[in-house]
Amino acid sequence: MLDVVIVGAGFAGIGMAIRLKQRGFRNFVLLERANEVGGTWRDNAYPGCACDIPSMLYSFSFEPHAGWTRTYPAREEIWAYLRRCVERYGLGPHLRLGTELVEAAYDQEEALWRVRTSDGATIEARALVWATGFLNRANVPDLDGLASFGGTVVHSSAWDTSLDLRGTDVAVIGTGASAIQIVPAIAPLARRVTLFQRTPAWVMPRRDAPVSPLRRALRRSVPGLAWLERQWIYWQLEARAVGFTVEPRMLQAMEAIARRHLARGVAAPALRDKLVPSYRMGCKRILLSDDYYPSLDRDNVDVVTEPIREVRERAVVTADGIEHPAGVVVLATGFRATEPPPVRIAGRGGVTLADAWRDGMEAYLGTSVAGFPNLFLLIGPNTGLGHNSMVLMMEAQYRYVLSALALLRRRRLRALDVRADVQARYNARLQARLARTVWSTGCASWYLDRRGKNTTLWPGFTFAFRAQTRRVRSERYDLIGEAN
Ligand code: NAP
Repeated sequence: MLDVVIVGAGFAGIGMAIRLKQRGFRNFVLLERANEVGGTWRDNAYPGCACDIPSMLYSFSFEPHAGWTRTYPAREEIWAYLRRCVERYGLGPHLRLGTELVEAAYDQEEALWRVRTSDGATIEARALVWATGFLNRANVPDLDGLASFGGTVVHSSAWDTSLDLRGTDVAVIGTGASAIQIVPAIAPLARRVTLFQRTPAWVMPRRDAPVSPLRRALRRSVPGLAWLERQWIYWQLEARAVGFTVEPRMLQAMEAIARRHLARGVAAPALRDKLVPSYRMGCKRILLSDDYYPSLDRDNVDVVTEPIREVRERAVVTADGIEHPAGVVVLATGFRATEPPPVRIAGRGGVTLADAWRDGMEAYLGTSVAGFPNLFLLIGPNTGLGHNSMVLMMEAQYRYVLSALALLRRRRLRALDVRADVQARYNARLQARLARTVWSTGCASWYLDRRGKNTTLWPGFTFAFRAQTRRVRSERYDLIGEAN
C-alpha cells in the first residue's frame, strides 16, 4: 500500500510531491492523465497566454526562480519552470503519465483509498490528494448550430497549436481573462476578428515589461533581493483583499483608473460606450491588459454586443439577423468551475462526492470533506483568490496535508475524518462573510454556482488562510484508529 496518491501533475500536484519528498516520503505516486506534466500551463496553449500575477510571486517559495524574463510570466515560461521542478526534485519515478483516475473508493474496513486507473490497475493508498484544479472543464455554450459549424471550433483551454489564423475570419465568444489575451495576439494575423461580448469586463493597466539581464543577475547574486521583491509584490496585492472582502466601495477608486485606461486605449466613442461595465469592479475577476483595448480599436476588429442567435455553416448570426462570417470560432467561454469532479469518488458508506455536494461544493478549510477520510483537496472549495497568487494558497494546503500525515504517524492513526458539525459551522461562517464581499454585489460569474452560492473563493487575506491551516487540530476530526 502507498502512503499517498496525488491526482494531477499540474502546479498544485507537483508542489505537493516536492513537499512530500522533502519530508522524507518516498512511497507515493503522482497520477497524470495527460502525457506531460503542467496542468493549466500545458493545456492553455492559446496565443498570448500568460499569467496575471507577477512572475516573482507565481512560483514556489521553496523553489524561487531568478530567471523570469518578464514582469508577468508567459505560459511557456511557467510550463518550463514546472518541468524543471519535476526534474530538479527527481519526481520522475513517482510520475504515472497518461494514467487517468477512473474511480476512487474509500474502504472503511481497511481505512484506505482504492483507486482504479485507466490502464486497468488498482492502487491502494492511505491518503488521496486531489490536485486537479477546477478551471479545466471547458464550458461549451449551448448555441444552436455550433455542432454543425463548417469551420474549426476551438476552446481556449484546448487550443490546436497547428491552427493557422492568417487571413481567416475569426469569431471570438467571451470577454474574460482568456479572451482579452487571445484577441490582441490574433488580431494582427486574422483577416477579421469579431468579438462577441455579453458583459464588458473591468480592465486595468498591466504594465508588463522585460526583466533586464542585469536585474536577473542581481536577483541571482544579491542575497535576499528576490525574497524582498516577492514580499513587496505580495503585500501590494494582499492589500487589495480589503476592497474585495471588507469594503467593496474602495474598488470605486480603481474603477476610475480603469475608465481612464479605456479612454486612452479606445478612440472611437461608440466603441468605448460598449466597453463600460455596469457592475462593481471585482465582482468578476479584474482583468489586466495593455493591448486589449487598442486591439479592439483596430480596423479589422468588431465588438458585437447583440446576443448570438445561432451558428451557421460559415457564420455566427446575432439576434438582429446579421450574419458575421467566420472560418474559426474561438470559445473563450470559461470553465464549469463549481461542479464536482466528473469521476466517482466514494467515501464512507459509498456516498459519492457528487452526492455530498448536491447542494453545492463545500469542505473544511478547502481541504477536508466530512465522510471522506484521508481525502485532501488542493485548491478545493473556497480557496480561490480574486486578489493574489494561488501558489500561496497551495503552499498553505501542503503544510496542512503534511501536518495531517504527521498526525496519523504520531498517533498511530489510520485515518482522519473531519467532523460534520465542524465543517457545517465553518461553512456557515464562510458564507456569512462571503455575503458581505464584492462577489455578492449582483453580477453573474464563475465564482457562483447555479444556486448563486459562492463555492470557489476565499473571503479574506491569504495570511489568515495560512494561519488557519498551520496545523491540523485533532479535535476537529474523528480519529480512526487501529483495527482491534
Ligand atoms: P470566464 O472568465 O468565465 O469568461 C468567460 C466569458 O465567456 C465571459 O465573458 C462570458 O460572458 C462569456 N460567455 C460564456 N458563455 C457564453 C455564452 N453562452 N454566450 C456568450 N458569451 C458567453 O473564462 P476565462 O476567460 O477562460 O477565465 C476563467 C478564469 O481562468 C479567470 O477568471 C482566471 O481565474 C483564469 N485565467 C487566468 C488567466 C491569467 O492571466 N492568469 C488567464 C486566463 C484565465 P459573461 O461575463 O456574460 O458570463
